[in-house]
Amino acid sequence: CPERETKEKDCRTEPISEPEWVNNVEFFITKKLGVWCRGPNGEWHLGKIQSASGDVACVVLSTTEVVEVSMKEILPANPDVLEGVDDLIQLSYLNEPSVLYNLRVRYSQDLIYSKAGPVLIAVNPFKNVQIYGNDIRSAYQKKALVAPHVYAVADAAFDEMMREEKNQSIIISGESGAGKTETAKYAMQYLEALGGGNFGVDNEILKTNCILEAFGNAKTSRNDNSSRFGKLMEIHFSAKGKICGAKLETFCLDQSRVVQLSNGERSYHIFYELCAGASPILKERLNLKEASEYNYLNQSNCLTIDRIDDAQKFHKLMEAFNIVQIPQEHQERAFALLAAVLWLGNVSFEVIDNENHVDVVADEAVTNVAMLMGCDSKELMVVLSTCKLQAGRDCIAKRLTLPQATDMRDSLAKIIYASLFNWLVEQINTSLEVGKLRTGRSISILDIYGFESFKNNSFEQFCINYANERLQQHFNRHLFKLEQEVIFFSLKLKLYEYEGDGIDWTKVEFKDNQECLDLIEKKPIGLVSLLDEESNFPKATDTTFANKLKHHLKANSCFRGERRGHGFRVSHYAGEVLYDTNGFLEKNRDPLHVDLIQLLSSCNCQLLNLFSSKMRDKSLKPSLSESMNQSVITKFKSQLFKLMNKLEDTTPHFIRCIKPNSNHLPGVYEENHVLQQLRCCGVLEIVRISRSGYHTRMTHQDLAARYGFLLDTKLSQDPLSTSDSIMKQFNLPPEMYQVGYRKIYLRTGQIGLLEERREYV
Ligand code: ATP
Ligand code: MG
Repeated sequence: CPERETKEKDCRTEPISEPEWVNNVEFFITKKLGVWCRGPNGEWHLGKIQSASGDVACVVLSTTEVVEVSMKEILPANPDVLEGVDDLIQLSYLNEPSVLYNLRVRYSQDLIYSKAGPVLIAVNPFKNVQIYGNDIRSAYQKKALVAPHVYAVADAAFDEMMREEKNQSIIISGESGAGKTETAKYAMQYLEALGGGNFGVDNEILKTNCILEAFGNAKTSRNDNSSRFGKLMEIHFSAKGKICGAKLETFCLDQSRVVQLSNGERSYHIFYELCAGASPILKERLNLKEASEYNYLNQSNCLTIDRIDDAQKFHKLMEAFNIVQIPQEHQERAFALLAAVLWLGNVSFEVIDNENHVDVVADEAVTNVAMLMGCDSKELMVVLSTCKLQAGRDCIAKRLTLPQATDMRDSLAKIIYASLFNWLVEQINTSLEVGKLRTGRSISILDIYGFESFKNNSFEQFCINYANERLQQHFNRHLFKLEQEVIFFSLKLKLYEYEGDGIDWTKVEFKDNQECLDLIEKKPIGLVSLLDEESNFPKATDTTFANKLKHHLKANSCFRGERRGHGFRVSHYAGEVLYDTNGFLEKNRDPLHVDLIQLLSSCNCQLLNLFSSKMRDKSLKPSLSESMNQSVITKFKSQLFKLMNKLEDTTPHFIRCIKPNSNHLPGVYEENHVLQQLRCCGVLEIVRISRSGYHTRMTHQDLAARYGFLLDTKLSQDPLSTSDSIMKQFNLPPEMYQVGYRKIYLRTGQIGLLEERREYV
C-alpha cells in the first residue's frame, strides 16, 4: 500500500523550495534568467544574478539596485512565458514567491480565480467584478469558456453527477472574510440556472440565504457579514437534471454572540433589522424600542454597518419568509421571541444580602419578557433568581448570586435564540423538500469556517481547527486517490507504462495528518476524551486540565505542552497553534438548566413549548440520556463524523478562498497575508501532489532527437543512456523524473526547463 511510504513524509509548514536549482546557478548567470531574492523584511524581489561566490550572490534587482544576498535567500523565477498561468501546476518552478507572484499578476487583471491542480483558488476582489453575468454563465454552460471560475466548478460537478449518477460536493473553505459565502451563493446561482424552472424550489434555495444570513451572520472585526455557523446545502436533481428539492444542514451556531459582544462588533443582523424595519403596529405589539436601548446590542459601540440599510434588509427578509412559505403567524411569533431576547438583556438584578444573592428588579424589561414569552412575570423572576435543589423528598429553592443569576438570564436568551435558529432551519427544510429525495443525484455545497490561528486561541478555535483537520484528511485522501487513479489508468491502458517500464510508482508522496487526528480523537487518551473527563470533574481547573494534557499526550509529536501557564500547542496541518486552556472546561460543559426547560413548557407560546419538548425529548431518549450532559465537543465531534460520512459518499470539488488584505480593500494584495493563507490551505502542497505524477512521457528516441544536441558529450548509441545523460547534465532533480526501459517520465514543469535550455542555445 503506497499510503505506508507517504506517511513518512511530512513537511507541514515548511515552504517548499527547490534547493537543487542551486546546482544550476551558473546557468542562471550565463543565461541571465530571473530569480527571486528575499529582502531584509522577508519580501521577495525579482532580479538577475550577476555573479556568485561561495554562498553569496550579487543580484541586480528589477529596480537596477544591486544587492548581495545569501544563496539561501534566492529562488528561481519562472520564464516570462509562464507569467499569470491559470493553473499553478504549469509553473516550472514551484516556490512561494512564484506562486504569490502568479496570483498577484492575475488579481491585478481581475482574474480572481486560478487553479492549483484540482483545486479552485478564489481571491476576494472586494469589489464588483463583471464575471457573473448571464452571458458568462451561459458561456460556461455551453463550455465556450473554460477559464477557472466557480461556475466551471459547479458545471463540472453537475456534469459528473449526471454522467456518473454520483453525489457531488463543493467544499469551500478559507478564513473569515475570504469570500466563502459569496462563492457558495454563486455556485448555487449557477446550479439554479442550470437545473431551475421545474419545481419552483430553485427560487427558494437562494432566498434561504437571505434568512440564514439575517439570523446567522453578524458584523465582526474581520467581516461585516460574517457567518457564525457552518452550512451544508444539499441540492437534489431529477433524472432530467432539474432541481427537485434541497436540504439544509447547519453546524455550531455561535450562541455567545447573542449576549456578549467585542467592541466594534454586532450581534446577529436580525436584531438590528427588526428594530429598524418593523412596522409601527408590530413595534407596538412587541413594545419594541430602538436598537440603542437594548443592553445586548449597545454594549459594543456599534449599531450600524456602513452602506447597509437594516430596515430595507428587514423588508427583504419578509419577502424571503413568504417565498419560503413561513406562515404569517409563525413569523410574528418568531419576532416576538426576538424581542423577548432583547428585553431579557435589559433585565437587571439587585443584591439583597452580603452574600451577593439577588432579586430580579421588577421593571418594564421583565414585564415585557414575560408578556412576549407568554408566562407569568412572577414565575419568570423566580426562575431567573433561584435554582431548585432536591433535599430528600422536598424541593427547595436556593437563591442565586449575581454572577449565577446573570448567567441564568443569558442562558435563557441563548436557548431561545438557538432554538429559534434551528426551528427556522426546519421550516426551510420543510419548504425545500419536494417528494422523496433519492440519492445519486445531488450536489452539496459546504460553506464552513477555515483554519484559525490568532494571538489568543481558545475552545472555539480548537473546534474549528479540529473540523478543518478532518476536512484536510478528506482532501488528502481524495487527492491521493486521484493520483493513484492516474497511475492505474495508465497501467490499464498501456501495460508497459510505469510498472511495466520498471518505474517505481510507489514514490508518490502524500502528506498525512492522522497523527494530529489521533491526538485529538484517540480513545481513551486523546484531547477530546481528556477534555470531557476533566469537564466532568467538579474540582478541575484550566490548569489541572493543561497539566493532564501534558502528562498524557507528550508522546504525540503533534503536541507540545507549555512549560509554564495553561497553554498547549498543536501542530496542525496548517501550522502550529498555541491554545489557552482558559475557559475550555466551562465552554465544554454547556449545562441545560432543567428549570429553564420547565419555564418554556409552561409558557403560553406554541413555539416555546415546542422548543422545550425537543429539549426534553432528547433528555428522555435512553441513548441520549447523557445528552443532557453531553459535552459541546462530543456533540461537535459526532456532528463532524456525520458530515464526513456524508461527504465520503460524494465526489468532492474543492474551492479555497483567499482574503488578499485585512482591510477589505479592492486592488490591495498583501503578500504576507496571502502567503499565510496559501500555507494554511496547503496550496503549494496541493500543487506538489498534483504534479507528483509523471504527467509527461517521452520515448528515449524522441528525447534524444529533441535535446540530444545540447549534450556536452558525444551522443550515445543507446537512447536510454542519452536520456540519462541529459537529465544529469541539466541537473534535473532525481525526484522529478524516472527513466524507464522505453520512456522517460517527467513531472509537470520539467519539460519547460529543458525547453528553456533549448531556447537559449
Ligand atoms: P465568514 O467566514 O466570516 O463568513 P466568508 O468567507 O463567508 O467569511 P464572505 O462573507 O463571503 O466571506 O465575503 C466577505 C465580503 O467580501 C463580502 O461581503 C463581499 O463584500 C466581498 N466578496 C466576497 N466574494 C466576492 C466576490 N466574488 N465578488 C465581490 N465581492 C466579494
Ligand atoms: Mg460566510
